[in-house]
Amino acid sequence: MKRAVRDPDLLCQMLGLPPETLAGAIAGSREFSVFAPHEYIARMRPADPNDPLLLQVLPSRSEGDEAVHASADPVGDRFARRQPGLLQKYHGRVLMVTTGACAVHCRYCFRRHYPYSDEPHSVRQWQPALDFIADDATIDEVILSGGDPLTLPDAVLAELIERLEEIGHVRRLRIHTRLPIVIPQRVTDDIVHLLQRSRLTPLMVLHANHANEIDAVVAASIDRLANAGIPLLNQTVLLRGINDDPSAMERLCRELVDLRVMPYYLHQLDRVAGATHFEVPVSRGREIIQHLRSRLPGYAVPRYVREIPGETSKRLIE
Ligand SMILES: *Cc1c(COP(=O)(O)O)cnc(C)c1O
Ligand code: SF4
Repeated sequence: MKRAVRDPDLLCQMLGLPPETLAGAIAGSREFSVFAPHEYIARMRPADPNDPLLLQVLPSRSEGDEAVHASADPVGDRFARRQPGLLQKYHGRVLMVTTGACAVHCRYCFRRHYPYSDEPHSVRQWQPALDFIADDATIDEVILSGGDPLTLPDAVLAELIERLEEIGHVRRLRIHTRLPIVIPQRVTDDIVHLLQRSRLTPLMVLHANHANEIDAVVAASIDRLANAGIPLLNQTVLLRGINDDPSAMERLCRELVDLRVMPYYLHQLDRVAGATHFEVPVSRGREIIQHLRSRLPGYAVPRYVREIPGETSKRLIE
């Protein structure tokens, strides 16, 4: 992560992109900085301004277009905050915003305006959240999210997990992470053991949006997790110009199930300010799902959902 590219100019140079691409990128990067690790850039096609991986990290001029219906908090995180760093929207599961750091800055991120600096920065500061979980016996699953929880040092993760293990009614630990896709080398034996030896049942939800993100190194990392018996799911965001195509989505789902990762959710984009140019019409999303259903086994078709603040689960789009 220290070596990651943070300069749109450098990113464009590395990939041999035309100057007009760079001008748009500089204009778009003012509000949300560029952050792309070399491991991820290596999977982009040189000299292709429409590469599906590049488009996820390179700012575009359109980010300044403030759509009327866009919001800084499209999913109602502010109203779901129960304690510092702790969100609860749904029965039985809580989500911990463990860090603001990510291994990549995805331009479409729905938490791109999240006030991370108000959240805990040490295990000690997690006490109110841990007390909240301990006081509510209906909570049996804790989701580590962020940001990306695997950007935390192993020791911090280990301590957090230990504290959660002390709460008797917590049974499952879910990790929402993009790191095994973005910097697959992060899936070390240590992290696998940390999850494997926990009293809590671990699950991991990955975030891949395109089959080109999955190369041999990613496949090997996913293999290590699957071999450890950790159930693996994937969530994908439906993104204009990136994966709003039936055959691209089919390829992604096939790659995932071959690697023992179940396609879990296909998310309709949350209308966060600065990212609405990625929105795909729901009618197109339905067509893609129809295509997947006609081509793939049932377990390989993700649930197409959108998040509506105040509802008791993500809403299935049928
Ligand atoms: C999406 C989300 C979850 C997880 O929902 P599942 O349907 O269980 O995957 C949990 N908490 C919050 C705050 C969420 O946004
Ligand atoms: S990894 Fe997830 S939280 Fe981080 S920028 Fe990408 S979408 Fe947002």
